[in-house]
Amino acid sequence: MTHKGSCLCGKMQYETGELTSELDHCHCTFCQKFHGAPFGTYAALEDVATFKWISGGEDVGRYQSSSHSARLFCNACGSSLVAEIEGGKILAVTAATLDDELKVDGVHHMFARSKIKWFDIAENETKYEEYPPYMDQFTPTD
Ligand SMILES: [Zn+2]
Ligand SMILES: [Zn+2]
Repeated sequence: MTHKGSCLCGKMQYETGELTSELDHCHCTFCQKFHGAPFGTYAALEDVATFKWISGGEDVGRYQSSSHSARLFCNACGSSLVAEIEGGKILAVTAATLDDELKVDGVHHMFARSKIKWFDIAENETKYEEYPPYMDQFTPTD
């Protein structure tokens, strides 16, 4: 199944193959600043080769936020679109920029250690202080 997403102004449009059915809410300080929100929410691609820009790709904004991760955004409206880890070995789209219905089986909270004080994580949701186990090869830099 493919998914389509786009930015606020419509300049950027992307398509992906299957996405993980569990979303990551990332509470790291970079996500807080970048999204202007308590956390950023990501859906990771099962196969990064399925990602493609339908429009705007040649003009995508890129900010290298740490030694191993970059954030791709629309340079016209500022929408955060993709997190690129290790030069693209892992790609995750910002779940709220998807234009089609996403089947979600659950959510994880990561970087709970830097959670903003006025947002509470629900008791029944999984949380990790830093990276979740499947990303523990990375060293937190925030
Ligand atoms: Zn835009
Ligand atoms: Zn983050």
